[in-house]
Parts: sequence; structure tokens; C-alpha cells
Amino acid sequence: MADKFDVIVIGAGPGGYVAAIRAAQLGLKTACVEKWVNKEGKTVHGGTCLNVGCIPSKALLETSHKFVEARDHYDEIGIEVGELTPNIAKMLEFKEKVIAKNVGGISALFKANGVTALEGTGKVISSKQVEVTGHDGEKATYDADNIVIASGSVPVEIPPTPLTDNLIVDSSGALEFTEVPKRLGVIGAGVIGLELGSVWSRLGSEVTMLEAMDTFLPVVDQAVAKETLKLLKKQGLDIKLGARVTGSEVKGNEVVVKYTDSKGEQEVTFDKLIVCVGRRPYTQGVLGDDVGVKLDERGFIFVDDHCRTSVPGVYAIGDCVRGLMLAHKASEEGVMVADIIAGHKAEMNYDAIPSVIYTAPEVAWVGMTEEEAKSAGIEVKTGSFPFSANGRALANNAPDGLAKIVADAETDRILGVHIVSQHAGELIAQGVIAMEFGSSAEDLALTCYAHPSTSEAIHEAALAVDGHAIHMANRKKRK
Ligand SMILES: Cc1cc2nc3c(=O)[nH]c(=O)nc-3n(C[C@H](O)[C@H](O)[C@H](O)COP(=O)(O)OP(=O)(O)OC[C@H]3O[C@@H](n4cnc5c(N)ncnc54)[C@H](O)[C@@H]3O)c2cc1C
Repeated sequence: MADKFDVIVIGAGPGGYVAAIRAAQLGLKTACVEKWVNKEGKTVHGGTCLNVGCIPSKALLETSHKFVEARDHYDEIGIEVGELTPNIAKMLEFKEKVIAKNVGGISALFKANGVTALEGTGKVISSKQVEVTGHDGEKATYDADNIVIASGSVPVEIPPTPLTDNLIVDSSGALEFTEVPKRLGVIGAGVIGLELGSVWSRLGSEVTMLEAMDTFLPVVDQAVAKETLKLLKKQGLDIKLGARVTGSEVKGNEVVVKYTDSKGEQEVTFDKLIVCVGRRPYTQGVLGDDVGVKLDERGFIFVDDHCRTSVPGVYAIGDCVRGLMLAHKASEEGVMVADIIAGHKAEMNYDAIPSVIYTAPEVAWVGMTEEEAKSAGIEVKTGSFPFSANGRALANNAPDGLAKIVADAETDRILGVHIVSQHAGELIAQGVIAMEFGSSAEDLALTCYAHPSTSEAIHEAALAVDGHAIHMANRKKRK
């Protein structure tokens, strides 16, 4: 007889593996199916995030950032290092080690928590059955009282730039370049494009980014987006807005890209091209015929606020469902669903999910931008503070950027926190916690912050909401 589980999770990315661990912690007999195999043919957990996403990109962002800091900025603070050369092979080796440690960690956590790891492709064949096709083609069917689909997403491809073996690549390919491309094109100046463009620009590529939209980072508060654009351009990223790619042609070792902008038809030649135009939900082969799990019009698995699909007992989480395509959003949905299955009350606060772009400086935000709040008809007050007036940022030789708080004009409740600065991805946690606890701007303004710390910029931004920032000359008069 087939094994029976309380929960079977399909996919071991940050959504699926977290759901499985939490379910097992709550005493549920849990299995997690994963089909991803690495270059050595071994099944690996961690999904996109650990294998080709968050973690490897951050390893390369960190190494390339350290290189630029040493090459361009150490002399400013009195450290002379002479000429430096990046060793790409070693950087890639470091990245692989980081992936291996993270991936190995998940397998260890599965063992420690008693999660059964099933290797192969999982398919929901009824509301209570999952068929697993092993890597050898053998099929086995498992019964489950509950099924969680966490099958993730894949990069979007566009007809004008079909991927090739190594000239036109997606984000995964861009983590594998063994040499620094001289001329690198990036289609899409979104989060992933900016991160990967930054990595290779720091290592020596001339990077041109072609972005179809006229507005830079439209989802980001525009005060922060404008500051970011200015800083990234200063670093040498050639970001062309309103540039719509219409075609490409591979000529020998080069790729010629055609695009249109306000001046008409343009052409540009690259040694490598990265296509970073977004990701789409991946559900291929996950749903058997007649199971009844509905997709929405964009191909995401349709779920309610509690990640319940249209079939009772079947849940879906992470990138394969609506909402932000982020690892921590997937993980929190995994926790919520496991709690619900175990009979607990669980909710997710979708208004307090942080987003981060790991450029230098980093861009991080949570909640509403000023533009979003205004277009929703909310009267707002805002406070901003530049890191150039923050003692610790100056001591860190990282004075770029600003922190901004958007608050409800009537209630003072914080609606959004927006930061561009060194370590903004760490600082934003304060905004998330403040919003999670329903804080007002005054709550933050009345909080005592450690000195000197870059966090003090958030404090000052909160004080600035009512015009009382201490370290800013042009503050309003206290009422
Ligand atoms: C370059 C890059 C950088 C990124 N950086 C960040 C970042 O800094 N921060 C952040 O929050 N997010 C980042 N992301 C996004 C993040 O990786 C995703 O949001 C996250 O991985 C989604 O988690 P998930 O569990 O929903 O899906 P995935 O991580 O995609 O995992 C899905 C898993 O399901 C498996 N699977 C699919 N179908 C089946 C099946 N039928 N049977 C068995 N297994 C199956 C897949 O093999 C995969 O392992 C980045 C993405 C990329 C590409």
C-alpha cells in the first residue's frame, strides 16, 4: 500500500521547504517532493532562491562590491592596495560553495524535523493523491490529507531575443559567465536586471540596460527611485528608459539588438545579453487532468487570502500564486498554510512584506509609496532624511541615499517606509516591524536609537514627518 501523509508539499523552494518543516514541527506526517537536480545529477532542495536566485546572486553582488570598494574607495579612507584584478573563477567557486552550504542545510533540516524527502516530479492526481515520477521514470502514488503546491516560477522569455547557449541568457546564465563580457546588454531594468547588471559592471563590463518603461522602478517611491537612478548612472550603468527591444541577431560571438526609443529605431552590439523581463508562474505537469484546481487569467494558481485553491485540502503558495515574487513571501505563506492545516488560526499581512534591490546602495521598501497612497485618495505627510547627514554613514564612507516615511496625515499611522542606502535591506526590518505593530510616525520619533548608527536616519525621517528632524537645517518650526 502507498505511504499516506498528512501533508505532501510539491516543490522544495523557500515556499515548499518552509511549509514542510513547519508542518512536521506541528506534528504532521509530511513529505516534500523535489525534482531539481544539480550538475552532478543530485536532487537539491532550495528551489530558485538557493540554486539560481537570491543566494548565488547575493554571493556575486557581495564579492563584486568588495572588489569595487577595494579598488575605488579604499584609498579615500587611507588604505592603499595597489592594482587589483578580479578572479572570476574563484568568485564562481565561492558562489558554488555558498549554494552547496545552503542547499545542504535544507536536507539536514528535513532529516532533523522528520520530513520525508521524495525525489522526482510531483503531480496532483486527485485532491488526496500525489503521483511522483522518479528521475528513473518509475512512478509511485502517495495519499495525502492535504497537498501544498509550491512549484515556483521561471524566467519570462520574449520573442525578439530567443535564448542561445551562451550569448543570450536568462538570469541563471548570467550567474555563470566565466569571463567578464566587454559589452553587456541587459533587457529590463527591474530588480534582477539591476542586480546582475551591477555585478558585471563592477567587474568591468560596459553595461547597457534597455528598459521598455519610461519610468524607472515604477513600484518604488519616486523620490527614492530618482535618487537610485542618479547613483547607478554615476557608477556607469547606462540605463535607457523607454527602450523597447524589437529584435536580435547573433553574428559570430556578438549579438546585435534592435530597439525603438523616442528617437526611432536603434541598434546596439553586445558580447553577452541578459534577458531579465520578469518571471512567470511554473505549473507545468503539476496538475493532473480533472483535479479542478483553477488558474487565474495570468496562469497563477488561483488562491484566496489563506492560499486555499479552488479544491478543498489543496493549497498553493509562493511564486506560483498571486502577489510579490519573493522568497520571504513564499516562506511566510508556507508557515501560514502549515498552521492552517494543523488546525491553528493563521493570517498573513500582505501589506507589510519588504522588498529589496541589492544594488549599492541598496534600495528597500515596505508598504505604500507616496504616489500609491495619494492615488488611493489618502492624505499623507512624509518625512525624509539624507544619509549624508548621518554620522555613521559618513564614518562608513557611505553617505549616499535617503530614508523616507509616508504616514497618514490624519492618524499619523505609518503607511510606508522607503530607503536607498548602504544596508537598506537590513534597515527596512524596522519599517516592517513598525507597520506590523501598527505604529505611528511619532512612535518611531519617540524611540531611542543607538548612536552612531545608520538606523538613526529612520529616526530622523520619522521626526521629519512633523518637521522636527534634529540634524537637518531646514526643518519646520515646532508647533
Ligand atoms: C536572480 C534572482 C535573484 C533573486 N533574488 C531574490 C532576493 O534577493 N530576495 C527574494 O526574496 N527573492 C529573490 N528572488 C526570487 C525568489 O527566488 C523567488 O521568489 C522564490 O524562490 C520563490 O520561492 P518558491 O518556493 O515559490 O519557488 P521556487 O524557489 O521557484 O521553488 C519551486 C521548486 O519547485 C520545484 N518543482 C516545480 N514543479 C515541481 C514538481 N512538479 N515536482 C517537484 N518539484 C517541483 C522546482 O524544482 C523548485 O525547486 C530572486 C530570483 C532570481 C531569479
